[in-house]
Order: sequence, then structure tokens, then C-alpha cells
Amino acid sequence: MGLFVKEHSEPIFLHGLGEQAMFDFVAQYKSHNIKERFIIGGKSNVGNDATYFDGVTKATVSVLVINDTIVTSALAVARAKLDGFIAPSNKIVAPDFFEPLSFEALLEKGYIQKHTINMYDFDGLEREVITAANEALEIIDFSIEDSEEIPNSSQSSIQKTQIFSQHYYAFLSIPIVGRNLLGEEEYQRLKENLKPGELALLVINTQGFSFVSPEFIPQTTPEHLQVLQGGFPIALRDIDFYSFYEPSFTQEIPQYKDIKVLRIKSKGGLSLDQPMDIAISLPFKPSFFELDEHLFSFNFTLPNELFIENPEAALAKPEPLWVKIWRDRTVEISITVVYLLLLSVFFATQRKLTRYTTFVHISRAVSLVFVMCFIGFYAQGQLSVVNIYTLLLDLVDGFSIDVYLLDPVIFILWCFVFVSLFLVGRGLFCGWLCPFGAMQEIMAVIAKQLRIPQIKIKPQHHRYGQAVKYVLLLGLIASSFYSLTLAEKLAELEPFKTAVTLHFVRYWPFVLYAVILLVLSLKIHKVYCRYLCPLGAGLAIVGRFPLVKLLDRRAECGSPCQLCKQKQCGIDAIQSNGQIDYGECIQCLECVVTLNNSDMCKIDKYKKKKVPTRVKNLNSVSA
Ligand code: SF4
Ligand code: SF4
Repeated sequence: MGLFVKEHSEPIFLHGLGEQAMFDFVAQYKSHNIKERFIIGGKSNVGNDATYFDGVTKATVSVLVINDTIVTSALAVARAKLDGFIAPSNKIVAPDFFEPLSFEALLEKGYIQKHTINMYDFDGLEREVITAANEALEIIDFSIEDSEEIPNSSQSSIQKTQIFSQHYYAFLSIPIVGRNLLGEEEYQRLKENLKPGELALLVINTQGFSFVSPEFIPQTTPEHLQVLQGGFPIALRDIDFYSFYEPSFTQEIPQYKDIKVLRIKSKGGLSLDQPMDIAISLPFKPSFFELDEHLFSFNFTLPNELFIENPEAALAKPEPLWVKIWRDRTVEISITVVYLLLLSVFFATQRKLTRYTTFVHISRAVSLVFVMCFIGFYAQGQLSVVNIYTLLLDLVDGFSIDVYLLDPVIFILWCFVFVSLFLVGRGLFCGWLCPFGAMQEIMAVIAKQLRIPQIKIKPQHHRYGQAVKYVLLLGLIASSFYSLTLAEKLAELEPFKTAVTLHFVRYWPFVLYAVILLVLSLKIHKVYCRYLCPLGAGLAIVGRFPLVKLLDRRAECGSPCQLCKQKQCGIDAIQSNGQIDYGECIQCLECVVTLNNSDMCKIDKYKKKKVPTRVKNLNSVSA
């Protein structure tokens, strides 16, 4: 009938595409039926019975989540209010389960059940309940003794076993019960009275207080009977089965006072395979102005052999959204996984590979372009500091893996980064997996080609600058505990959403900010990564002391040689003593290539120059 967005905190619409895109998406559902199969962003095929809605570019996962929310909510309303929407039970009554059985045999097997309320069930009950019981029974020929006497163990056993009320309950819609009791003809008549999914409960009162009052009006709800399942009352209504027909049974049933067949509608939500409580309710007056009721309930559970697995239930079980998303994004997932495998092999064999300078340079260039274009622009796999504080908040509020599985590429990347952080440090991500990092490095390559003079940051300024990103990280995480919305706004410090997610199509101040950072990185190598990136800071904290220090150094690195520090390492991750700061290193491998290449390494070059002199000297000595 209608739907509107009451509240949301989806960042891509709040701070990116604008809320109108979300409202327009939601408006498409109006006047559609929940029974339709909605497909988001697909192409309509002739003859296909699905309903196609326009998706929202760059918010694919968000609109799938919105779709899931709308469909689930609408279904919940439909199930609560309309017939024919009940979720299929996991089990159904076995349609062919039948053998001829007498009333006694049905009772013995538990297919029919008896509930007797005896005098001792009144032990300890309020005087008003007992008074009410006595009043109710005045119409009948026996009465309950005064409450002071009933709980007393000195009461005679006859009094103690005297029956206040007795009922038999039989679900006639179960074939073995209905056909055995009613016979085929009456059973068919009953079926004609029921709509699909409806249940029929036969209630027989044989003694004492009855489930219906003498004033009972046919086709209404019995006044003194309640059926509850899972604590929820189930609606019952007399179907007036015996208005024109006398009760007729194919076999002997107990002598009864009242007999009714009650209807339980399909939307009533009763599952026969689950335990239920059937109660006789006795109204009483706790005070002159009040009316209450006391429930004498018993547990009614039907034996398991009456049921079989419902094949429809498995089909109707909604597939988790994340499974759908993983299936739809198989290609992106596969390419990402293959790249990660190749990257792992590359790093595992980097000691050998770094001897081949050209190969490493080409691999790195290909990797940067791939990460920017495929992982970033196409697969939207830009990790962000928002992911970190969502995880921290989840650890406090309760963790649900389903939320993280909604974005498979991000999920896979985080798993890989988490392991690689401890193993080899942050560099594997920052140097080989971050799309915005790749963009900055591509800018650095352009700057080199265009011979743009570089600004070299003085060591003391560099140190202070590095600290800024840690302060920013701390501020962001603290703000996320205060307000997630505020933290998401502050996370705009990251230019990722503008540059990678939205491809620079956004409100101009955001675009200007991202462009300034990229232009700056033409002059200062990876300026954003080195001084501002809170995500990089977070990764640096965890990956500062990796289990494996992959990058080789030689004794001469730092003393006397400073080549790699001064010329090869663009981000100043090599200390004066030649050691690598794994908190800053992006594992571009440039220093290792230098070290393994005798044409590049100054020490090797120096040694090469010296060898002929030594050989000459040796030759002259031997002469
Ligand atoms: S420091 Fe930040 S922007 Fe740079 S590569 Fe690492 S995560 Fe990406
Ligand atoms: S040059 Fe060496 S120390 Fe510097 S970032 Fe690259 S791998 Fe790390």
C-alpha cells in the first residue's frame, strides 16, 4: 500500500549519493505484491515472472539490504494479518499415515488426549477460585468442598480423585484421527468445511465443568477453552459441524455432555508438530469489581510418527542475503582470490624474484593499475577506517558475521590483510592492495616521468608529520563510541569514498579535497599515506612487529651506505642505521631490488671496482 524511509544511517546515501536516490529506490515497491519475486538491477526478460527494479549504481549492496528489509517486513505484516502467508512448518502431518484404530487405541497412542481436572488440582488455590468452581458446578450434581478442607491430606481418597472437569481433544484434520473417528463420509464432509491449511479440533466434554457455557452461541469462540503455543493464544472458533447433522462416529466414543468441532485458521500459526498447552479457564472474581480466570492447562504434544519433513519448508526458507551476494559476485571474488594467491606466491619467492629488476618493476606497475581499476573502481574493495570502528563497536555490542559477509570483496581482503599484518606487516596491504595508495603511487610515477621536482621533507618534520595520522585515528575511534554518524562524517577525512567508490562524481568540496591530495602526491611521495591516513596508522600499530621480516638488509646498509634511505625509499621508511621501519614500509621491494642487483647496489659497485686492483696486485706479487 505504501512505504517510506523512517530513519537510516547509510553513509553512501547520507554523505555520498544523496538521500533522494534511496527514496526513489524505495518508491518502486509501491503497489506491488509481496508474492512477487523482486530482482534488483537486472534486465527484464520476456516471459520471466520476476519484477525488476532499478538498482542504485555504487550502492549495490545497500539496496540489496534495503530490499531484504522491505520484503521481510512486508512478509511479517502479511503473515500476521492475512491468510495464505503462513511460513510453512518444518514438518507436516503425514498424509498416508493410517491404520484402523479404536478410540481406546488412539488414546493409548497419544493421537487423542484426555485432560482431567481433579479435586486435588485445587490444592492451595485461592478461595475465590474454589467458590467460582462450586458456583460453576451448582448446575451439575456435585460440588467441591470448602477450600480449607480440600488441601487437607486427611480428605478421603474419593474426594481427592473426584473429577471437576474432563475433556478429550482430537485433531480431526490428522487422517488417522479423523478417518478412524468419523468414518470416510463424515471425514470428507469435514474437509469440505475447512479451507486449505485450516485445522479442526474435536473437543468432547464428558464430565463436570465444560469448555462451553450453557449460553454458548454456535460459530463463536468457546468461553472456557484456550490453546496456547509458545505462549501465544491460538484463535479457535466453532464450525457448527453438528448444526444439521447429529454427531456420528464409526466407533464407540465416551458418553459426552458437550461436543464441538473447532476451526483453527491457517494464519492462527499453530504447528501440530510442536508442543502446545490446552487449558480450561475458570472465571472467578478476586474482588467484587474484578473478573479473572484460572487456567487448568495441560501439555498437548502429538507423537512424532504422525509427521514427516515438509519439502516446502526447505524451499521457502529465505536464502541469506549474503549467499545471494556471494553468488552474484562470483567473478569479482574469483579474480580477487587469484590475485591474492599470486601476491602470496610473489612475496614468498621475493628473495629470488628481486634479482630480476625489470620483472619486479613490471609486476609492480601491473599490480598498481589492477588494484586501482579492478579492486578499487570495479569491485569496490577499498578498505576504510570505518570498517575498523564498525568492528570495534561490534565487539562491544555483539558480533554478527553476516553483516561482514554482505561485501565479499571487502571481507576477503580484510581476512587476507588481518593474517598478512601479523606475518609480514602492513606493507602488503598499503603497497599492493590499497586502491588510493595505488593512485598516489601512479601519481609519483607520472611525476618521475615528467621530472617534477620533489619536496623532500626534513627528518624532524617527517617525524612530527607521521604522528598526525595516529592522532587522527585516535580521534576517529573515540568519536565512533560517541556517535557512529559523527564518526562516519569525520571519516570523510579519507578521500576513498570520493576517489574510489564514487569515481570523483560528488559534491565539489569532496572532489577538491581528493584532487588536492593527488596533486600534492606529485610533489611529495604518497603524502596522504605518510602523514594523514588513519587506516594506515591502524594497520601500522598492529603490523609494526611482523613475525617474518621479509626484506633483507646487508651489513653495509646504513653504515656506510645510505643509498636506499636517500634515493630508493620514497616514503622514508629506512632508518639512518639502515634498518627498515615496518610500521611505515609499504613493501614496494625497491630497496631489496637494489640490494640484490649488483648494478644498483653501491656496495657491490664499489667492490666490483676494487676487485681488478686487488687482482692486479696479486699478479704482481706472484711475478
Ligand atoms: S596508508 Fe592509507 S591510503 Fe596509503 S596505502 Fe595505506 S591504507 Fe592506503
Ligand atoms: S624501499 Fe624498501 S623500505 Fe622503503 S617502502 Fe620500499 S620496501 Fe619498504
